[in-house]
Amino acid sequence: MGELKVQLVDLRAQYRAHKKAFDGAIRGVMEAGAFIGGGGLNRFEQAFAEFCGVKFGVGVGNGTDAISIALGALGIGKGDRVLMPAFTFIATAHAVVDAGAIPVLVDSDPMHYTMDPARCAATIARHGRGKIKALVPVHLYGQAADMDPLLAPARQHRMKVVEDCAQAHGARYRGRKIGSMGHAGAFSFYPSKNLGAAGDGGMIVTRDARTAERAERLHNHGRSSRTKSKYIHYSWGRNSRLDGLQAALLFEKLRHLDRWTEQRRRLADRYADLLGGDPNVRLPQIAPYSYHVFHAFVVLVRNRDRVAEEMRRRGIGVEIHYPVPVHLQPSMKGLGYKRGDFPVSELLARSCLTLPLYPEMTPSQQRLVVRELKRAISK
Ligand SMILES: *Cc1c(COP(=O)(O)O)cnc(C)c1O
Repeated sequence: MGELKVQLVDLRAQYRAHKKAFDGAIRGVMEAGAFIGGGGLNRFEQAFAEFCGVKFGVGVGNGTDAISIALGALGIGKGDRVLMPAFTFIATAHAVVDAGAIPVLVDSDPMHYTMDPARCAATIARHGRGKIKALVPVHLYGQAADMDPLLAPARQHRMKVVEDCAQAHGARYRGRKIGSMGHAGAFSFYPSKNLGAAGDGGMIVTRDARTAERAERLHNHGRSSRTKSKYIHYSWGRNSRLDGLQAALLFEKLRHLDRWTEQRRRLADRYADLLGGDPNVRLPQIAPYSYHVFHAFVVLVRNRDRVAEEMRRRGIGVEIHYPVPVHLQPSMKGLGYKRGDFPVSELLARSCLTLPLYPEMTPSQQRLVVRELKRAISK
C-alpha cells in the first residue's frame, strides 16, 4: 500500500502546530533531570483531576493499569465478578483479569453502542444479590455511557464503579464530567487518544482520598507520598508510573484540549452533514444526555470488510474498532461465552467502520473521505 492521502489520525499535525511549546516542555524536564515523580508530575495530576471535576489524580503507566489499579484500590480482587461491556477495546477485559477478577459481559445499547442499562440490570438479577462486586462502564468512541440507570443498581447492590474513560477525555453526562461519577475514573494517554502522550501513560481520578492513597501505593511499590521515606513499603505494589517527560508534555497539551474537542465535534457535524440522508450509512447518534468528544467517528455499513479494503486501497486510512467483540476473543475463551450471546456487539463488530478524524483535519480531506466512502459502498 502506498502513502495514505488521509490518515486515521495524524499526530505530526499536532506537533507541527505546537512545536515550540512541546519542545519547551520536554527541554524543561531534561534540564531539571526530573524524570520520575516530582513537581511536574504533581502539577499535571492536579490539573487533570481538576479538569475532571474531582480532587485526586494518580498518574500511572498506561490506561490498562489505570483500570486494574483502580479496581484494586477499591478492594476488587481475586474471584470477584465485574460487569463490563462485551463491545469495547480488549484492554477493559484484560484489566479486570489483571486485577484478579472475572469479567461478566453485557451487550450494548443498539442506539449508542455503550453498555445497555436494561441488560445490565437483568444480568445483575440473574447472578443474584451481592454476587457482582463492580461495574466498569466504557465511554465508547467519546460518548458517555448512560450513567444514571447504571449507577442506581450499582448503589443498590453496593457495587464499586470504575469508569473506563480512555476514549472520552472531557466528555460529559448530563453536565457531569466523565470520571467524576463512579468511585474512580481510568484514563489512557496513549498517543492517539484525545489527550495523548509521546508514549504510554494513564491516570486514575477520584473524589475519594482513601481510594487515591490506595491507588498510589498499588502503582508505586507500596509507597505513600504522605510519609517521607522512599524505602518504607506499606503494602505490595507494582511499578506503573507516569513519567516526568510525559507529565510535562501532557500538562502543556491539556491547555488545548477543550479547543481540540470543539474541532472534533465540528468535524463530526460536518461528516453528519455530508453523509446525512445516505441510507447505506448509519451515522453515530448523539444521546440527549451526552456531550460527545468524538474520539472516533464510527459509521455502520454493510459489507464492511470490502468497503474498508476498497477505501484503504484508495488512500483513506480507515480502521475497525473493533472487529471481534470481547466474548469471542481467544484470550477470553475461559469465560465460556459463545457466538450469539451478545447480538448487538456482534452486529457492531461486523459493520463498524472508523473514519479518519483528528482536530487538524481539513474540510477538503473530509470531503475526500466521504467521496471515497460513497464510491466504495456503491461499487
Ligand atoms: C486505549 C484504551 C484502554 C487502554 O489504554 P492503554 O493506555 O492502551 O493501556 C482501555 N480501554 C479503552 C476503551 C481504550 O480505548
